[in-house]
Amino acid sequence: MNDQKVAIVTGGARGIGRAIAVELAGAGYYIILNYKSNDQAAEETLEMIRKAGSDGEKARFDVSDATAAEACLQDILSRFKNIEILVNNAGITADGLFIMMPDEDWNRVIDTTLKGFYNVTKPVLKKMLRNKRGSVVSISSVAGLVANRGQANYSAAKAGLIAASRSIAAEVARIGVRMNVVAPGLIETEMIKDAPIDRIKDVIPMARIGKPEEVAKVVRFLCSDDASYITGQVISVNGGMF
Ligand code: NDP
Repeated sequence: MNDQKVAIVTGGARGIGRAIAVELAGAGYYIILNYKSNDQAAEETLEMIRKAGSDGEKARFDVSDATAAEACLQDILSRFKNIEILVNNAGITADGLFIMMPDEDWNRVIDTTLKGFYNVTKPVLKKMLRNKRGSVVSISSVAGLVANRGQANYSAAKAGLIAASRSIAAEVARIGVRMNVVAPGLIETEMIKDAPIDRIKDVIPMARIGKPEEVAKVVRFLCSDDASYITGQVISVNGGMF
Protein backbone atom coordinates (compact mmCIF):
# COMPACT_ATOMS: atom_id res chain seq x y z
CA MET A 1 0.00 0.00 0.00
CA ASN A 2 1.20 3.49 -0.89
CA ASP A 3 2.36 5.39 2.22
CA GLN A 4 2.50 8.94 0.82
CA LYS A 5 0.76 11.66 2.86
CA VAL A 6 -2.61 12.20 1.18
CA ALA A 7 -5.17 15.02 1.22
CA ILE A 8 -8.66 14.59 -0.25
CA VAL A 9 -10.32 17.82 -1.42
CA THR A 10 -13.96 17.69 -2.55
CA GLY A 11 -15.02 20.22 -5.16
CA GLY A 12 -11.32 20.76 -5.72
CA ALA A 13 -11.28 21.49 -9.43
CA ARG A 14 -12.24 25.16 -9.34
CA GLY A 15 -12.47 28.20 -7.07
CA ILE A 16 -11.72 27.83 -3.36
CA GLY A 17 -11.22 24.06 -3.63
CA ARG A 18 -8.58 24.52 -6.33
CA ALA A 19 -6.68 27.02 -4.15
CA ILE A 20 -6.85 24.58 -1.22
CA ALA A 21 -5.59 21.69 -3.37
CA VAL A 22 -2.64 23.74 -4.62
CA GLU A 23 -1.83 25.03 -1.12
CA LEU A 24 -1.83 21.50 0.33
CA ALA A 25 0.27 20.26 -2.60
CA GLY A 26 2.79 22.96 -1.65
CA ALA A 27 2.84 21.44 1.84
CA GLY A 28 3.84 18.09 0.32
CA TYR A 29 0.52 16.24 0.14
CA TYR A 30 -0.54 13.96 -2.71
CA ILE A 31 -3.94 15.33 -3.71
CA ILE A 32 -7.09 13.32 -4.40
CA LEU A 33 -9.05 15.86 -6.42
CA ASN A 34 -12.80 15.34 -6.33
CA TYR A 35 -15.19 17.27 -8.59
CA LYS A 36 -18.55 16.69 -10.22
CA SER A 37 -18.20 17.12 -13.97
CA ASN A 38 -15.68 19.73 -15.18
CA ASP A 39 -12.80 17.53 -16.39
CA GLN A 40 -10.94 20.40 -18.01
CA ALA A 41 -10.85 22.43 -14.78
CA ALA A 42 -9.65 19.32 -12.94
CA GLU A 43 -6.82 18.80 -15.45
CA GLU A 44 -5.76 22.44 -15.05
CA THR A 45 -5.75 22.06 -11.27
CA LEU A 46 -3.66 18.88 -11.49
CA GLU A 47 -1.16 20.85 -13.56
CA MET A 48 -1.04 23.53 -10.84
CA ILE A 49 -0.58 20.82 -8.20
CA ARG A 50 2.45 19.49 -10.10
CA LYS A 51 3.87 23.02 -10.44
CA ALA A 52 3.50 23.35 -6.66
CA GLY A 53 5.86 20.38 -6.33
CA SER A 54 3.54 17.47 -5.63
CA ASP A 55 1.21 15.20 -7.57
CA GLY A 56 -2.35 13.97 -7.44
CA GLU A 57 -5.20 12.25 -9.25
CA LYS A 58 -8.76 12.97 -10.28
CA ALA A 59 -11.69 11.46 -8.38
CA ARG A 60 -14.80 12.38 -10.34
CA PHE A 61 -18.05 11.72 -8.49
CA ASP A 62 -21.08 13.57 -7.18
CA VAL A 63 -20.60 13.77 -3.39
CA SER A 64 -24.37 13.55 -2.87
CA ASP A 65 -24.49 10.16 -4.65
CA ALA A 66 -23.80 7.60 -1.91
CA THR A 67 -23.12 4.72 -4.30
CA ALA A 68 -20.70 6.66 -6.49
CA ALA A 69 -18.91 8.14 -3.46
CA GLU A 70 -18.50 4.74 -1.83
CA ALA A 71 -17.12 3.10 -4.97
CA CYS A 72 -14.50 5.78 -5.54
CA LEU A 73 -13.52 6.18 -1.89
CA GLN A 74 -13.16 2.45 -1.25
CA ASP A 75 -10.67 2.29 -4.10
CA ILE A 76 -8.71 5.26 -2.69
CA LEU A 77 -8.78 3.94 0.88
CA SER A 78 -7.52 0.55 -0.29
CA ARG A 79 -4.57 2.09 -2.13
CA PHE A 80 -3.40 4.79 0.32
CA LYS A 81 -2.48 4.24 3.97
CA ASN A 82 -1.92 7.80 5.21
CA ILE A 83 -5.04 9.78 4.42
CA GLU A 84 -4.17 12.69 6.71
CA ILE A 85 -6.45 15.45 5.44
CA LEU A 86 -10.03 15.69 4.21
CA VAL A 87 -11.43 19.04 3.06
CA ASN A 88 -15.20 19.01 2.54
CA ASN A 89 -15.43 21.92 0.12
CA ALA A 90 -18.00 20.86 -2.53
CA GLY A 91 -21.03 23.12 -2.34
CA ILE A 92 -23.62 24.85 -4.51
CA THR A 93 -26.15 27.64 -4.20
CA ALA A 94 -29.71 27.85 -5.58
CA ASP A 95 -30.94 31.14 -4.13
CA GLY A 96 -34.54 32.28 -3.80
CA LEU A 97 -37.06 33.37 -1.21
CA PHE A 98 -38.06 30.41 0.93
CA ILE A 99 -41.78 30.73 0.23
CA MET A 100 -41.15 30.51 -3.54
CA MET A 101 -38.37 27.92 -3.41
CA PRO A 102 -38.88 24.81 -5.59
CA ASP A 103 -38.44 21.49 -3.73
CA GLU A 104 -35.63 20.70 -6.12
CA ASP A 105 -33.60 23.75 -5.05
CA TRP A 106 -34.05 22.98 -1.36
CA ASN A 107 -33.05 19.34 -1.86
CA ARG A 108 -30.03 19.71 -4.10
CA VAL A 109 -28.38 22.35 -1.92
CA ILE A 110 -28.93 20.34 1.27
CA ASP A 111 -27.91 17.09 -0.46
CA THR A 112 -24.67 18.43 -1.92
CA THR A 113 -23.52 19.90 1.38
CA LEU A 114 -24.90 17.57 4.05
CA LYS A 115 -25.30 14.23 2.28
CA GLY A 116 -21.99 15.00 0.61
CA PHE A 117 -20.38 15.60 4.00
CA TYR A 118 -21.83 12.32 5.31
CA ASN A 119 -20.95 10.21 2.26
CA VAL A 120 -17.32 11.34 2.19
CA THR A 121 -16.48 11.98 5.84
CA LYS A 122 -17.71 8.68 7.28
CA PRO A 123 -15.44 6.26 5.37
CA VAL A 124 -12.44 8.63 5.48
CA LEU A 125 -12.85 9.25 9.21
CA LYS A 126 -12.83 5.48 9.86
CA LYS A 127 -9.44 5.27 8.20
CA MET A 128 -8.14 8.30 10.17
CA LEU A 129 -9.32 6.76 13.42
CA ARG A 130 -7.51 3.52 12.61
CA ASN A 131 -4.35 5.59 11.96
CA LYS A 132 -5.02 7.69 15.10
CA ARG A 133 -4.20 10.75 13.02
CA GLY A 134 -6.08 13.11 10.72
CA SER A 135 -7.60 16.51 10.19
CA VAL A 136 -10.97 17.28 8.60
CA VAL A 137 -11.84 20.83 7.56
CA SER A 138 -15.28 21.64 6.14
CA ILE A 139 -16.06 24.81 4.24
CA SER A 140 -19.18 26.48 5.61
CA SER A 141 -20.11 30.12 4.97
CA VAL A 142 -20.96 33.39 6.63
CA ALA A 143 -24.52 32.39 5.60
CA GLY A 144 -24.35 29.52 8.08
CA LEU A 145 -23.74 31.98 10.91
CA VAL A 146 -25.94 35.02 10.21
CA ALA A 147 -29.26 35.67 8.46
CA ASN A 148 -29.10 35.95 4.69
CA ARG A 149 -32.30 36.63 2.77
CA GLY A 150 -32.78 34.31 -0.20
CA GLN A 151 -30.46 31.60 1.12
CA ALA A 152 -32.57 29.55 3.56
CA ASN A 153 -31.49 26.30 1.87
CA TYR A 154 -27.81 27.29 1.76
CA SER A 155 -27.86 28.69 5.33
CA ALA A 156 -29.47 25.51 6.66
CA ALA A 157 -26.89 23.35 4.89
CA LYS A 158 -23.93 25.44 6.02
CA ALA A 159 -25.15 25.70 9.63
CA GLY A 160 -25.70 21.92 9.60
CA LEU A 161 -22.10 21.45 8.56
CA ILE A 162 -20.98 23.45 11.60
CA ALA A 163 -23.20 21.54 14.04
CA ALA A 164 -22.20 18.13 12.67
CA SER A 165 -18.50 19.03 12.72
CA ARG A 166 -18.61 20.21 16.33
CA SER A 167 -20.34 17.03 17.52
CA ILE A 168 -18.05 14.70 15.59
CA ALA A 169 -15.00 16.68 16.76
CA ALA A 170 -16.03 15.91 20.34
CA GLU A 171 -16.47 12.22 19.49
CA VAL A 172 -13.02 11.75 17.94
CA ALA A 173 -10.82 14.28 19.77
CA ARG A 174 -9.28 11.70 22.10
CA ILE A 175 -8.26 9.47 19.23
CA GLY A 176 -6.06 12.06 17.55
CA VAL A 177 -8.37 13.30 14.81
CA ARG A 178 -9.29 17.00 14.60
CA MET A 179 -12.32 18.46 12.88
CA ASN A 180 -12.79 22.17 12.17
CA VAL A 181 -14.81 24.50 9.96
CA VAL A 182 -13.84 27.53 7.90
CA ALA A 183 -16.61 30.05 7.19
CA PRO A 184 -15.66 32.32 4.28
CA GLY A 185 -17.38 35.59 3.48
CA LEU A 186 -17.56 36.70 -0.14
CA ILE A 187 -14.74 35.09 -2.14
CA GLU A 188 -13.89 35.73 -5.79
CA THR A 189 -15.01 32.58 -7.65
CA GLU A 190 -17.58 31.59 -10.28
CA MET A 191 -20.09 30.97 -7.48
CA ILE A 192 -20.55 34.71 -6.92
CA LYS A 193 -20.45 35.83 -10.56
CA ASP A 194 -24.05 37.10 -10.38
CA ALA A 195 -23.80 38.65 -6.90
CA PRO A 196 -24.18 42.45 -6.52
CA ILE A 197 -20.53 42.88 -5.52
CA ASP A 198 -20.52 46.69 -5.23
CA ARG A 199 -23.51 46.69 -2.86
CA ILE A 200 -22.07 43.86 -0.78
CA LYS A 201 -18.67 45.56 -0.49
CA ASP A 202 -20.37 48.28 1.58
CA VAL A 203 -20.99 45.79 4.40
CA ILE A 204 -17.44 44.40 4.39
CA PRO A 205 -15.18 46.43 6.71
CA MET A 206 -12.17 45.67 4.47
CA ALA A 207 -14.27 46.94 1.51
CA ARG A 208 -13.16 44.14 -0.81
CA ILE A 209 -14.01 40.55 -1.57
CA GLY A 210 -11.55 37.82 -0.59
CA LYS A 211 -9.30 35.65 -2.71
CA PRO A 212 -9.52 31.83 -2.74
CA GLU A 213 -5.88 31.72 -1.57
CA GLU A 214 -6.83 33.66 1.59
CA VAL A 215 -9.18 30.81 2.52
CA ALA A 216 -6.70 28.12 1.46
CA LYS A 217 -3.96 29.39 3.78
CA VAL A 218 -6.27 29.11 6.79
CA VAL A 219 -7.24 25.58 5.75
CA ARG A 220 -3.57 24.64 5.44
CA PHE A 221 -2.90 26.02 8.95
CA LEU A 222 -5.85 24.12 10.46
CA CYS A 223 -4.64 20.90 8.82
CA SER A 224 -1.08 21.33 10.05
CA ASP A 225 0.46 20.30 13.35
CA ASP A 226 0.70 24.05 14.17
CA ALA A 227 -3.05 23.75 14.91
CA SER A 228 -2.60 20.65 17.08
CA TYR A 229 -4.77 22.01 19.96
CA ILE A 230 -7.59 23.35 17.75
CA THR A 231 -10.67 21.20 17.17
CA GLY A 232 -14.42 21.74 16.94
CA GLN A 233 -13.91 25.40 15.95
CA VAL A 234 -15.29 27.70 13.27
CA ILE A 235 -12.82 30.21 11.80
CA SER A 236 -14.32 33.07 9.78
CA VAL A 237 -12.40 34.44 6.79
CA ASN A 238 -14.60 37.38 5.81
CA GLY A 239 -12.83 40.74 5.87
CA GLY A 240 -14.29 41.57 9.29
CA MET A 241 -18.00 41.21 8.39
CA PHE A 242 -18.99 40.50 12.02
P1 NDP B 1 -17.31 27.02 -7.32
O1 NDP B 1 -18.70 26.98 -7.84
O2 NDP B 1 -16.34 27.97 -7.91
O3 NDP B 1 -16.67 25.54 -7.36
C1 NDP B 1 -17.39 24.48 -6.82
C2 NDP B 1 -16.61 23.19 -6.93
O4 NDP B 1 -17.40 22.18 -6.29
C3 NDP B 1 -16.42 22.73 -8.36
O5 NDP B 1 -15.17 22.07 -8.50
C4 NDP B 1 -17.55 21.71 -8.56
O6 NDP B 1 -17.28 20.67 -9.50
C5 NDP B 1 -17.64 21.11 -7.19
N1 NDP B 1 -18.94 20.51 -6.91
C6 NDP B 1 -20.15 21.09 -6.93
N2 NDP B 1 -21.11 20.19 -6.65
C7 NDP B 1 -20.47 19.01 -6.45
C8 NDP B 1 -20.90 17.69 -6.16
N3 NDP B 1 -22.20 17.40 -5.99
N4 NDP B 1 -19.96 16.71 -6.05
C9 NDP B 1 -18.65 16.98 -6.22
N5 NDP B 1 -18.18 18.22 -6.50
C10 NDP B 1 -19.09 19.21 -6.62
O7 NDP B 1 -17.49 27.29 -5.74
P2 NDP B 1 -16.55 28.08 -4.72
O8 NDP B 1 -15.15 27.73 -4.93
O9 NDP B 1 -16.97 29.50 -4.69
O10 NDP B 1 -17.07 27.44 -3.34
C11 NDP B 1 -16.40 26.39 -2.68
C12 NDP B 1 -17.04 26.19 -1.32
O11 NDP B 1 -16.93 27.40 -0.57
C13 NDP B 1 -18.53 25.86 -1.39
O12 NDP B 1 -18.87 24.94 -0.38
C14 NDP B 1 -19.19 27.20 -1.12
O13 NDP B 1 -20.47 27.03 -0.57
C15 NDP B 1 -18.21 27.80 -0.12
N6 NDP B 1 -18.26 29.24 -0.03
C16 NDP B 1 -18.03 30.04 -1.12
C17 NDP B 1 -18.09 31.40 -0.99
C18 NDP B 1 -17.82 32.35 -2.12
O14 NDP B 1 -18.05 33.56 -1.95
N7 NDP B 1 -17.34 31.91 -3.25
C19 NDP B 1 -18.41 32.05 0.29
C20 NDP B 1 -18.63 31.10 1.38
C21 NDP B 1 -18.55 29.77 1.21
P3 NDP B 1 -17.24 20.95 -11.11
O15 NDP B 1 -15.99 21.76 -11.33
O16 NDP B 1 -17.16 19.62 -11.73
O17 NDP B 1 -18.49 21.71 -11.42
